[in-house]
Amino acid sequence: MMRPGEDCSLCGLCAGRTNLVLPSGDLASSVVLVGEAPGENEDLQGKPFVGRAGQILNQAMADVGLDREKVMITNTVKCRPPANRDPEKEEMAACRKFLDSELSGRKCIVGLGKSAVKDLLGYVGPMAPVVNTRQYVEIDGERILFIPTYHPMACVYQKVAREKLRETLRMVKEEFGL
Ligand code: SF4
Repeated sequence: MMRPGEDCSLCGLCAGRTNLVLPSGDLASSVVLVGEAPGENEDLQGKPFVGRAGQILNQAMADVGLDREKVMITNTVKCRPPANRDPEKEEMAACRKFLDSELSGRKCIVGLGKSAVKDLLGYVGPMAPVVNTRQYVEIDGERILFIPTYHPMACVYQKVAREKLRETLRMVKEEFGL
């Protein structure tokens, strides 16, 4: 797995970085969850999904009995965007080689939210029609199952999103024996 150097400055997000936020969980898992970008807590701790979104994700995983340590969790970009804005196309492109190296050889990628779905699937539009559909993306010349779903923060006020995210996690737990 290719990792950015501590001093990576391939895109402008390096300017606001406290820590790089690199993948966590089972780094050899067949399933990878890809979020958007680190937030404040993630930037301070150098770990993905440890703030509010992480708590919601943890709860959804607990609800379906999926152990967080059995999947790998990462983001499209490894540095926090200013004021938690969405990462820009150029920033995701600059960080893409690191993401690709994290995803290479996996059996299933779960895209958590619009940015991850846009970066990996090239889909831009409402999430509802694509959530929990079976798509495929090509990483290093290999077709890998890609399941779009809601970002945990979208679940805060939307019961439907919460249920759909649980459904996604249940699907991968059962299909991949996690
Ligand atoms: S977001 Fe990625 S490409 Fe940009 S500086 Fe951080 S590690 Fe480097």
